[in-house]
Amino acid sequence: MHPHLFLVHDQPLDSFNTFRIPARARHYLRVTGAEQLDQLRADPELGALPRLVLGGGSNLLFTRDFDGVVLHMSGLGREILGEQDGRVLVRAQAGENWHAFVQYTLEQGLGGLENLSLIPGTVGAAPIQNVGAYGTETKDVFHSLTAYDMDSGEVRVLDAQDCRFAYRDSIFKHEDGRALVVLDVTFALPKDWAPNLRYAELANAARDAGLESPTPRQVGALVEAIRRRKLPDPAEIGNAGSFFKNPVVSAEHCARLLAQFPNLVHHAQPDGTEKLAAGWLIDQCGWKGRSMGAAGVYPKQALVLVNLGGARGEDVVRLARAIQADVEARYGVALEPEPVFI
Ligand SMILES: Cc1cc2nc3c(=O)[nH]c(=O)nc-3n(C[C@H](O)[C@H](O)[C@H](O)COP(=O)(O)OP(=O)(O)OC[C@H]3O[C@@H](n4cnc5c(N)ncnc54)[C@H](O)[C@@H]3O)c2cc1C
Repeated sequence: MHPHLFLVHDQPLDSFNTFRIPARARHYLRVTGAEQLDQLRADPELGALPRLVLGGGSNLLFTRDFDGVVLHMSGLGREILGEQDGRVLVRAQAGENWHAFVQYTLEQGLGGLENLSLIPGTVGAAPIQNVGAYGTETKDVFHSLTAYDMDSGEVRVLDAQDCRFAYRDSIFKHEDGRALVVLDVTFALPKDWAPNLRYAELANAARDAGLESPTPRQVGALVEAIRRRKLPDPAEIGNAGSFFKNPVVSAEHCARLLAQFPNLVHHAQPDGTEKLAAGWLIDQCGWKGRSMGAAGVYPKQALVLVNLGGARGEDVVRLARAIQADVEARYGVALEPEPVFI
């Protein structure tokens, strides 16, 4: 094996995933730059093994041990690069904590990321599922990223178009992007910032706080307060945030459902489809607060599955399957999990 790679063997991953699910990695490497990935590729044994790129482990569900190399993205650093077309370009390394990075931009007086406050995980993972919250998605403030291609050994720069961002989706989740390891991400933050209060909950919070024209930091603080009220803190109770994506159905399907369920929560999409609130569907099926073994549905938010203590990946999968079956039977809607199953 390569003499310069500082590998750990049989590494426990329990504390590297926010669900706190026990799992182990055959090999584990903290990655701070492209050189280590060059060395890994060049190694005849290691280079042939399956790889898992790991950030904060906040969007993963381990269902087994990982029989390969875990690449734990650990590069740190952030900098303001300058201005371009009325936007300020800010770059951060993949291993930077996402929320700390958002705070850093707000402290610099830069708006744009405030609606994405308090999302767990790393900067490098934000483009993977085009992280979004409260009406803002990564793609709205994205400039470019640098990625290492494990197939070719090249370092590539990808712009927003290359990344093929969509709802909780990007090239990195598809076959032609799976070999890409994100090393750093550059964001373009608007100089003529205006608050994005399209989400009623956020607009109401601003109004209740008497903020007529809030600053980016004030919006960030409102988002934090809402999230702390609604979502379990992974430091206290294991979870991976929303466990299912909000399903998108045709306008006809939505109309049929509305005839039967007049309170159905739905949001019209620009392409004429309708996005349904997965949490509402699960709640209506009576799952809120219920559990199966050590896996449960969070009492305050039916979209979040939690580890009640000692859950294994298969416990969470069993609960998820039961919920999917109920929602399918009642609404004819297939719920798709948001976290990546390993
Ligand atoms: C309480 C809670 C609330 C959440 N709220 C939201 C929310 O509001 N909106 C939202 O979108 N998500 C939310 N999430 C999900 C999660 O925080 C995000 O998906 C986050 O971006 C995951 O980052 P991570 O570093 O933990 O990624 P990980 O879980 O480590 O990895 C996720 C995926 O990205 C890949 N990956 C990670 N880093 C890289 C890299 N550098 N290069 C290539 N691939 C990489 C991994 O291989 C894996 O497939 C929430 C999670 C929790 C626990």
